[in-house]
Amino acid sequence: MQRDYYEILAVPRTAGEDDIKRAYRKLAMQYHPDRNPGNAEAEQKFKEAAEAYDVLRDPEKRARYDRFGHTGVQGGGAGGFGSAEDIFTHFSDIFGDLFGFSTASRGPRAMAGADLRYNLDISFRQAAKGDEITLSLPKRVTCKDCGGSGADKDSKVETCRRCNGAGQIRRSQGFFQLVVPCDACRGEGRIITRPCPRCKGEGVVAEVRELVVRVPAGVDTGTRLRVRGEGEPGIHGGPPGDLYVVLTVEPDRRFQREGQNLLCTLEIGFTQAALGHKTEVSGLDGELPLEIPKGIQSGTLLRIPGEGLPYPGQSRRGDLLAEIKVLTPTRLSDKQIELLREFQKAGEEKPLEKVKRAAKKIKKAMGID
Ligand SMILES: [Zn+2]
Ligand SMILES: [Zn+2]
Repeated sequence: MQRDYYEILAVPRTAGEDDIKRAYRKLAMQYHPDRNPGNAEAEQKFKEAAEAYDVLRDPEKRARYDRFGHTGVQGGGAGGFGSAEDIFTHFSDIFGDLFGFSTASRGPRAMAGADLRYNLDISFRQAAKGDEITLSLPKRVTCKDCGGSGADKDSKVETCRRCNGAGQIRRSQGFFQLVVPCDACRGEGRIITRPCPRCKGEGVVAEVRELVVRVPAGVDTGTRLRVRGEGEPGIHGGPPGDLYVVLTVEPDRRFQREGQNLLCTLEIGFTQAALGHKTEVSGLDGELPLEIPKGIQSGTLLRIPGEGLPYPGQSRRGDLLAEIKVLTPTRLSDKQIELLREFQKAGEEKPLEKVKRAAKKIKKAMGID
């Protein structure tokens, strides 16, 4: 006959979450195996309290237990804690701050390999058109001789006798028990009697590997290209990390970049600005015709749609923007000076004539003629 969970934790059926947690912590402290070495009854109570807490801390399980009793929570994850170790792992949040250590990592665990970063400089043209670039990567790869175990072919990998393979040992420090990495096996939980000569027991070796990376068209400085599985190898059978290729795009002489738009400067003479002009402007793929409307001002932006940089992975492109810069001539021939003087005079006459015409109108309207 199983004991009632509320009775085990000595809390009323109306107890709140915090009361239940507090009651469990108290019992866990009392019956903790480290405090009661070799005491089977204490261990039983320790497990019983964990089982009760596992059900009552979960509102859904607790509701089922309240309605149907023990049968309501069977097979739902309640109970069945095989050992104190299971309990430490299961309630690491409680034991972590209770005993001053985290139980989250004990023994050799599979761990994902670290991600790697590779800084790559590319030309403006490579960024604009995309490219395939071969990288030479110094990389740590799993040792082929020992398959990553770090042990010489004929030698055995033995479970560490000091920590029984857990990789951690408990050490008393006053009232508390501390868990520290085992010093005999350096936390690995196993001991290699004869290390692999190729990797010196590390299980990984440094190699230069060539890797082709596809740079999509339209990338910019700061773009990160992720190459899956090309990072550091995993530890204890964990998956490898990823490689991040971080791009720096060299600036271009002709174009300034604003996102996927390109900006260039187009210098024209002041007569061309005044009269209008048909010309060409340098684009990514060669010369592009451009018609400058008459009367254009310096600083005006003329847009040529779809002649900018591609959006990476898309078919659409940004625009090319030509900023007009009107040049004032600095060296003039006598003939040009003469013509310009005439031009100036023609310009001055106009306002004067306007005034005369206006004055005439006013006089007429006022009847002074
Ligand atoms: Zn050990
Ligand atoms: Zn090796």
